[in-house]
Amino acid sequence: MVVDTHCHLTLRFEPDELAGVLHNAVDAGVEGVLLVGYCPVHYRRTADILDQFGSGGGSLPALAGTIGIHPHEADNYGPSDIEFFGGELERQDIVAIGETGLDFFRDYADRTRQEDLFNAQVALAAESGYPLVIHSRNAFDRTIEILENYDLPDKPGVFHCYGYGPDEIDKVTGMGFYVSFAGNLTYPKATELHSAARKAPEDRILTETDSPFLIPNKAKNRKVRRCEPANVIETAEKLSEFRGWTLEKTSNIVSVNTLNCFPLLRNIEPWAEIGRGVDA
Ligand SMILES: [Zn+2]
Repeated sequence: MVVDTHCHLTLRFEPDELAGVLHNAVDAGVEGVLLVGYCPVHYRRTADILDQFGSGGGSLPALAGTIGIHPHEADNYGPSDIEFFGGELERQDIVAIGETGLDFFRDYADRTRQEDLFNAQVALAAESGYPLVIHSRNAFDRTIEILENYDLPDKPGVFHCYGYGPDEIDKVTGMGFYVSFAGNLTYPKATELHSAARKAPEDRILTETDSPFLIPNKAKNRKVRRCEPANVIETAEKLSEFRGWTLEKTSNIVSVNTLNCFPLLRNIEPWAEIGRGVDA
């Protein structure tokens, strides 16, 4: 069973579609889904989804969430907008801070504002001990510089939708971070990323969809209009191919890594069950 450690079910999904989307995930063999925060408005909707579906289990995947403000939103929000995170982190089903980071590729928001917002969220992670979900694009050096200014936990979180090459893997995993591979891993031209997936340490690899974005290659050819958690299987299959693993081995490794990257998941029964399934 496979895990989608990063999706946004509040973007391009209507509330009445979500039960179907979550059931599709279980039918495809997806055991756990992490709903990632995007901004305060979308966080509220994410919390509503968690309230509606609980922690999953049964005919649903295990569910949990994160809270954060995406760098694309840095012109709309500033450091003071994360003040309410503290109260929300008391929820048992909120297990990380993010996504947060720097995006100097799209440059949708002013870079100084992106850095201010990123610093505020990294500082909160350092203070609270929560892992970070990091978005970093065309901003590798600056991302690392900022992270190195803080006293982060031993396992400080994940570089989601890992998009750098094999050389940067050593730096990121050396700092204790996990690297998460998304649907772009399946793109034939993404050769640098393929090398990175071959090289990443076995105990640092995660899988995700970044739904509704990054539709994997075969799903794209089927003219699927948006990515959803069920599509993480195609990425896990591609990862298996690169590593020479069976899909079962990949999913066991990724399940254990997910629980280690986000230790609070072990307090949530359907996620703890995943851990027991792998240990058995
Ligand atoms: Zn995302």
